[in-house]
Amino acid sequence: MAKVAFLGLGVMGAPMAGHLVKAGHEVTVYNRTTAKAEAWVAEHGGAFAKTPAEAVAGADFVMTCVGNDDDLRQVCTGPDGAFSGMKAGACLVDHTTVSAKVTEELYAAAKEAALGFVDAPVSGGQAGAENGVLSVMCGGDEADYAAAEPIMAAYSKICRRLGESGAGQLTKMCNQIAIAGLVQGLSEALHFCQKAGLDGEAVVDVISQGAAGSWQMANRHKTMLADEFDHGFAVDWMRKDLGICLSTGDEIGASLPVTALVDQFYKDVQKLGGQRWDTSSLIKRLT
Ligand code: NAP
Repeated sequence: MAKVAFLGLGVMGAPMAGHLVKAGHEVTVYNRTTAKAEAWVAEHGGAFAKTPAEAVAGADFVMTCVGNDDDLRQVCTGPDGAFSGMKAGACLVDHTTVSAKVTEELYAAAKEAALGFVDAPVSGGQAGAENGVLSVMCGGDEADYAAAEPIMAAYSKICRRLGESGAGQLTKMCNQIAIAGLVQGLSEALHFCQKAGLDGEAVVDVISQGAAGSWQMANRHKTMLADEFDHGFAVDWMRKDLGICLSTGDEIGASLPVTALVDQFYKDVQKLGGQRWDTSSLIKRLT
């Protein structure tokens, strides 16, 4: 069993860190809003610290799951950041969805400080984190990945190294590109179904077992039909991710017309007040 620090107890991080305790690891958490860290310790045990540097003292592994590029920089290399407190040879595993650029930057800084660094964004949503069945897509040195994989097993269904540093984030971009158009298609199908006066549940029961079936259909149709979006993966985060996909697409010469269009649809949802709504709220633009 390892000594692990977990930084960022949001929708995803809190349950992931909880699985580490259940797996028997010695866990210390840090959250920017300390009240959440206190509540987490009351529920799961372990310890909390008031800064990333304090939380990582003596840890073998440090997991991060914060918001965007700047948040990750702050937690890793900012004042009282994780890198300043980690012992030589320890490994930072980043579960945040960020750009390949910040990953490259932090990987270089980690190596200079004799630390491991694995980019390891996740897919599977809030339910995947709570049930410990996330898909984890990794990039980094083989030795760092091999050391970190058994720790990530506490909350993953599949965990794989896709290549050198940055390959995990590039894989997550493929994931988000695949989801964007799909959620719009699902929204249009359910909108059409309601306008046609059909029974939404009955329709999904049939078509989900044919070629139209998807994770989004299985896990989101009920709440979409019920007009409920106060859960899951926030629209603001999706726009961050699609922005990363689109700028990387420009850099590498990949054409992403539907992704660009759906990104603009999410902008409409933000204007409706849906910044924190689940991404399935694309249907709100249609109703
Ligand atoms: P969230 O609920 O908004 O939580 C974000 C966490 O990051 C909070 O603990 C927040 O602290 C912390 N944080 C943000 N900025 C920080 C900063 N500058 N310094 C220190 N801590 C900071 O987000 P989430 O849904 O868990 O998502 C986290 C990451 O996972 C994002 O990159 C997201 O794109 C990705 N992701 C999310 C999902 C999903 O379904 N939710 C799925 C896959 C990937 P406070 O509590 O103080 O605000």
